[in-house]
Amino acid sequence: PASLKIENLHVGVEGVEILKGVNLEIRQGEVHALMGPNGSGKSTLAYTLVGHPKYEVTEGRILINGTEINELDPSERARLGLFLAFQYPVTIPGVRVADFLRHAVSNIRNPGRKEGEELMKMKDFRKELRDTMKELNIDEEFARRYLNEGFSGGEKKRMEILQLAMLKPKFAILDETDSGLDSDAVRVVSEGLSKLSGPHMGVLIITHHERLLEYNVPQHTHVMLAGRIVETGDASLAHDLHANGYAGVRERHPAAA
Ligand code: ADP
Ligand code: MG
Ligand code: MG
Repeated sequence: PASLKIENLHVGVEGVEILKGVNLEIRQGEVHALMGPNGSGKSTLAYTLVGHPKYEVTEGRILINGTEINELDPSERARLGLFLAFQYPVTIPGVRVADFLRHAVSNIRNPGRKEGEELMKMKDFRKELRDTMKELNIDEEFARRYLNEGFSGGEKKRMEILQLAMLKPKFAILDETDSGLDSDAVRVVSEGLSKLSGPHMGVLIITHHERLLEYNVPQHTHVMLAGRIVETGDASLAHDLHANGYAGVRERHPAAA
């Protein structure tokens, strides 16, 4: 299986060190949960992995199958199979869901492609999209919607899951930061992810939503505190944190807390 490895990763934002030596390895087929209090650096790790320019790696390495990807731009990382939910702009005026997905899929499957060249054949794309939406119980009408325009929480999650299904990444990072997700949205992402995950996908779920982790039981749970992973365990660690919060973790790691 392919592996995504993070070695001693230090990351700064505008000159301030946020991640202070993160180590983590995710293999295809594994589900990992990343938890930790607000401001501990979870989203910073997610953005850094996909190559967001604002996050500067000052030390350490990110490797896919042993090859360092520190210097690659986000689209190159996507071609290597890395996917971050919500990596598309909040709204793109005049772009429909289907158009967006056709471009995204074409970019990933045809690495040499230049802007405006050789999109995936419309007929093939439409069939694949239709089949995928059927499998995910997403109404066909959704493909004709303008991207994100007036999307509900649940529709944003449908978009995220549909992207995941069409792009078939080797490593998917889901940063479910929004504690305001309604129950429809949580259900969509929980059920969708469990349908899509399997031996071909490694998943890093960043979440506080217990339901998401009930549907997608992590083999590994990591706790981040002040820019470091201070504890790693199995699904029972996630349950313990849901039940008891982070006070115990802080007590066990006073230097970080
Ligand atoms: P989490 O996702 O665990 O809540 P974040 O990664 O969002 O944590 O934030 C970690 C720390 O980095 C916080 O102190 C936050 O204020 C800071 N930070 C994160 N992103 C930025 C940014 N783009 N600009 C400035 N500070 C940031
Ligand atoms: Mg966050
Ligand atoms: Mg959350």
